[in-house]
Amino acid sequence: MMRFDIITIFPRFFDSFATESLFAKAQSKKIISLRVHNLRDFTKDKHRTVDDRPYGGGAGMLMKVEPIVRALKKIKKTNRPRVILLSPAGTQFTQKKAAGFAKKYDQLIFICGRYEGVDSRIKHYIDETISVGPYVLNGGEVAAMAVIESVFRLIPDALGNPKSLKEESWSSDTDKEYPQYTRPEVFDGHRVPKILLSGDHRKIAEWRTGRAR
Ligand code: SAM
Repeated sequence: MMRFDIITIFPRFFDSFATESLFAKAQSKKIISLRVHNLRDFTKDKHRTVDDRPYGGGAGMLMKVEPIVRALKKIKKTNRPRVILLSPAGTQFTQKKAAGFAKKYDQLIFICGRYEGVDSRIKHYIDETISVGPYVLNGGEVAAMAVIESVFRLIPDALGNPKSLKEESWSSDTDKEYPQYTRPEVFDGHRVPKILLSGDHRKIAEWRTGRAR
């Protein structure tokens, strides 16, 4: 069982993520579990403050470190947990990284930043910092979903048909998947390549290999 924990100030982002499609199925089969923690529940002041001004000045607010550390202490740890801070300045996330996460750990804990990010002292409480790409999002929630979705589908039995992982883009022997077609055979004058209709599986395999980039 792989357990995903999210620390966020916007827990409702994960409502449909958790309850739709194969992710929901994998939860009901107890292959994975998702727990979303509202960071404001780990504050101690009346206003449930999660941010403050940066020392030294600068634009915007920063997320305070204490509530996050309190949340991390409260989240029950499994045998092989990994604490991940999401940040555009982190290590670029890749399919290889997703495979490593799926194999090495049984719990991934994500800290979703907002505002200008998180007080840098968070580095003493995390295992690594991950970026989902060289661009800036408003918060870590969408980034966490991208990482979780790519990891959970690599967990044995999470997908209906495990074969579908084998020839995918970014899998081991090819970088990108070959072109694929479904019915109708002709759409708006655009035909399905003849070879795919031939029934000759050897030739089809060769054609596909030649077209994977
Ligand atoms: N001031 C920060 C900077 O320049 O690096 C950007 C902060 S961003 C507006 C707020 C939060 O969104 C970040 O703390 C992080 O959690 C999340 N975030 C934004 N872009 C991301 C990315 N490419 N990958 C992962 N997380 C990202």
